[in-house]
Amino acid sequence: MSRTDVFDLGRLGLTPGEGRRFDLEVALEPLDFGGQRYDVVPASVPVRLDVARMVGGGHSLRLRFAAAVHGPCMRCLADAEPATEVDGREVHQPGGGEELESPYVRGEELELARWVNDAFSLALPSQVICRADCAGLCPVCGENLNEAGPEHHHEPEPDPRWAKLRELKFD
Ligand SMILES: [Zn+2]
Ligand SMILES: [Zn+2]
Repeated sequence: MSRTDVFDLGRLGLTPGEGRRFDLEVALEPLDFGGQRYDVVPASVPVRLDVARMVGGGHSLRLRFAAAVHGPCMRCLADAEPATEVDGREVHQPGGGEELESPYVRGEELELARWVNDAFSLALPSQVICRADCAGLCPVCGENLNEAGPEHHHEPEPDPRWAKLRELKFD
């Protein structure tokens, strides 16, 4: 399937109240997350687009797809690929005022790739982690605590302030 960047709504020739469904493929750009690059999997994502012509003119649009970001877990640095589902809607009624005009529609053209990439960024969790209960790295020795297990621990270091106190001599 070829990738869709811009989708022509005008050529559909829908009559008011009529709707159609399209299965398309859209390119997803890699993301920058805290200075780290994350690829999106798949880079070419299957997207379902529902288009309906509204009675008052214009279109209502629904966008659905699922994709994952792939890169190092922000806690343990292992490979992470958390999946995100997107279900977005836009309404575009020319001349309907700011609330009824979609930023992704220009004339009769839907900027589908831009909408898909924006919607994906907004739907992402704030952190990329390998699993919800990732234990991260040991703050003392840096070992991966998911592998080391719960018995991994270190003897507490003596507090340096007490060490200083012990050096004081009392007569
Ligand atoms: Zn992790
Ligand atoms: Zn440790």
